[in-house]
Formats: sequence, C-alpha cells, structure tokens
Amino acid sequence: MTQVTMIEVGPRDGFQPIVPFIPTARKIEIIENLYAAGVRRMEAAAFVSPSAVPQMADAPEILAAAAALPGLDAQVLVPTARQADRAIAAGARHLVFVVSVSETHNRNNVRRSPAESVEEYVRLVEHLPGAIRLNVATAFDCPFEGRVSADAVFDLLDRLVPLAPSAEIALCDTTGRATPGQVMRLFGEAAARYPGGPSWVFHGHDTYGVGAANAFAAYQANVRAFDASVGGLGGCPFAPGATGNVATEDLVWMFENMGIATGIMLDRLVETAHDVTTIVGGQTGGRVRRALAAAHTLKTSE
Ligand code: ZN
Repeated sequence: MTQVTMIEVGPRDGFQPIVPFIPTARKIEIIENLYAAGVRRMEAAAFVSPSAVPQMADAPEILAAAAALPGLDAQVLVPTARQADRAIAAGARHLVFVVSVSETHNRNNVRRSPAESVEEYVRLVEHLPGAIRLNVATAFDCPFEGRVSADAVFDLLDRLVPLAPSAEIALCDTTGRATPGQVMRLFGEAAARYPGGPSWVFHGHDTYGVGAANAFAAYQANVRAFDASVGGLGGCPFAPGATGNVATEDLVWMFENMGIATGIMLDRLVETAHDVTTIVGGQTGGRVRRALAAAHTLKTSE
C-alpha cells in the first residue's frame, strides 16, 4: 500500500499567530491527543524571541513533553543559528531552519536578507548534532512581492542544497495562493534538478480553498510528506485574510479514501480538530470536520 507521512504543524504554525496565551498544559494535552490519533511527526514549537512571539515562550517545556512520547519525531523551528543553539540546549534533535525566497518576506520574518540567512544555515549545518530540515518560505507566492518565479526558488536552492544534500526540504506555499499546476511544476523541476538529492515536503495553506488540491498536485509529483494543521489552525501575520494551513483531517480523509495510508486514525483526529476550535483567539478552517459532524447528525436523526 502506498504511504504518505503527515507532519502535524498545528502546535507551531497553528498556535503561533494566536495572541491570547494558550496555557502550556493545554498545548501538551493537544499534542498528546494528536499522538494518540497516530501522529508520529510533529512541529512542536518554534524557538524564537519570547518577546517577539510570547505564544512560543514555553517552547522548551513543550519540546520536553513532545520528546517524552515514544516514537514521536518532534521537530522545532529555528530562525537563526542563535535560536538553534537554544533549541539544542533544550534537547532538540530535529531542527527546522526557515529561509524565504522573497527578500521582503525574509526581512519581515527573520530580520535578515536571504543571503544572511544562508550564512546562518552554513553555521548551523556545521555543528548540528541531529537532523535538519529546511523550510523554503514563499516558494510560490509572497504576501509583499506576489508571484515568486521558479528561477528565484532555484537560485536559492542551488546555494542551500549542496550544504546539506540529504536534508529534507519543504517548499512552502506561505500565503495559500499557489495553484495545483504551479505546485506540480515546481516539485517536478526540483526533483529533476537535484537527482538523488533532498526528500521533499509540501507545506500548504488553504486561503483559496485549494490546499488539498495543491497537496494532491505535489503527490502527483512524487512528494510523499505533507505539513498540515489540525482543524486548519493558523494564519499568516503578513497576509490579511489568509487562512491557516490545510487541515490535517482534510488530507487524511483524501488520502485514506484514495487507498493511501497516513497512519492516522481519522475519528480520533477529528475529535482533536473539534477540540481546537475552542481555543480562544484561534482561527480554524478545513471541511472534513464539519462534513463528518453533519453526516453523523443525519444518521442519528434517521
Ligand atoms: Zn505556514
């Protein structure tokens, strides 16, 4: 049976834009429920400046709780080599480093030029004790600069890939404005350009309702790992109106009904998807959670 890997990013991309602080115990409860639903890869937190992003101030405690779950590969996002040191000191074994293709987005996101971020990545891969994954943000579209060309993506990747040829790389549709054709083309060109190179991940948002279609387009281009957020939690601070990540339960429903295994129990996952809609200040999305609730109502009223 064909398999895909779901990488749950709700605890990071989903929680990060929420302003009211989610109590640490509540975050851990959600992480444990996702694990109980079968999630085995998760972006548990971001190590960022606690004054800039107070929601992520408890990253060390969250990482410790996630690392205690047997067999869970808990990755944490780091924007700089300095934050990477902080994450490693807290016990992180799997780091996610983020660089944007777009100069403006990189400056707004991590206060550096893309070239400076590449330098930080060089320092990072030189002294890394564990695994590294690279998030290439704005790989399709930028909230400031609009459409991003494949040439611009490959200019950046040509510098980054040789530094850690086997690192996993996520091409991120940060705004949710990518289209399935664009996604299929970019992953196809990337695989051809770096044969035997990185393993690829698609990170998509659902702003225009094509998050699942974009994920399937990536699948058609042989991508087998997907970021998604339970309940479609999330948002983009620089893209007004942008919704969250594509909902994990939407992708699990799609893949499982196509005979593609995700390792996740949909009914357990949907319970958590309903649960996260109660987070104060959170913005949720996705379709499957509501569709299944409606189908259930129909059955019980018969
Ligand atoms: Zn995102």
